[in-house]
Amino acid sequence: MVTAPSRRPSLPLRLTGIGKRFGAVVAVGGVDLTVEAGEFVTLLGPSGSGKTTLLKVVAGFEAPDRGTVHIGATDVTRMPPGRRNIGMVFQNYALFPHMTVARNVAFPLSVRHVAREEIGRRVAAALALVELGGYDERLPAQLSGGQQQRVALSRAVVFDPGLQLLDEPFGALDRRLRQQLQEEVRRLQRRLGLTAVFVTHDQEEALLLSDRIAVMNQGAIEQIGPPHEIYARPRTVFAAGFIGESNLWSGPVTARDGADVTIAADGMNLRARAPAVASGGSATAMVRPERVRLLGGAEPADNRVSARVEEISYLGQTQKYLLAAGSRRLTAVWDLTAAPVGSIAVGACVTVGWSAADVHLIAG
Ligand code: ATP
Repeated sequence: MVTAPSRRPSLPLRLTGIGKRFGAVVAVGGVDLTVEAGEFVTLLGPSGSGKTTLLKVVAGFEAPDRGTVHIGATDVTRMPPGRRNIGMVFQNYALFPHMTVARNVAFPLSVRHVAREEIGRRVAAALALVELGGYDERLPAQLSGGQQQRVALSRAVVFDPGLQLLDEPFGALDRRLRQQLQEEVRRLQRRLGLTAVFVTHDQEEALLLSDRIAVMNQGAIEQIGPPHEIYARPRTVFAAGFIGESNLWSGPVTARDGADVTIAADGMNLRARAPAVASGGSATAMVRPERVRLLGGAEPADNRVSARVEEISYLGQTQKYLLAAGSRRLTAVWDLTAAPVGSIAVGACVTVGWSAADVHLIAG
């Protein structure tokens, strides 16, 4: 593990009203975001949603058209990148081609005048962290793309900055190494209390790593919150669809019965627990696939559907079932104790159900 006896304290990041256009394209359209000191926040969104542009504004590689960037108490909006004291790993981050791997990783320490023995120790530890021990004397051109990214990651962690920006740093790595690095980055970030802003398309990675996830869509933050909140209570249909799989049905709220409402959607009368939703409006009902249960004949359920199994995908600990009920499609995920492999075949008819409390309603 890398130790940091002389590191600066991590700092909060505050973005206020950040806007950035490229010609007619609004890349970022008025973003407010505060990342607390020591917090790991992920910007998650589809390609073109403005994640990288926002990160570049924080880093100083793009000047915003409007808004301010504060790191700690300092307004860095007009400060050059080199003075912001930020550790960065960007997609295709360029290593110094004429420097060996060890000198590349040592660079941020050298410019900070860290003692030579300390540099040697930290560089060795940081290279071991990304499984590149023994590559010290190679030049970047003698490494694969994935190895170059690992050197860039190593260089960003060796320097223990107060703020870390990571833009898809694991994209080029194989699955095993990717998982290992995710764990290492998170452990290191927690141990050192680093403030980190991480960009990814990968929702699983976002759920795993983040204290909070900011879901980005068309240059704006659509929702921000802890992973479990984003997953269980997405505020928009976009957020529901982008994170995890979901069954989504939209329709009018037709009745209220105590804490429950009925939604007429896709030919079903769906029962949902929603004390705050008024009847007369419309809503989208979301049911996560793992909440759809396989029902025995007489088993009661607030919502009940008979369906035919169209497709089964084996996922290891669980299996995913694509079900058809007339023209409706449902996805269910069951673990192997609920539905052992081979117990249900494609073409079988099943009864499934879910409770009103397992329906999350999105207004509108
Ligand atoms: P990806 O995940 O594909 O990297 P992203 O969410 O990071 O996407 P950005 O790279 O921030 O998105 O791009 C946001 C929008 O701004 C896109 O429409 C993109 O085409 C546009 N854009 C980004 N950089 C430039 C540029 N230098 N010149 C012109 N348009 C740009």
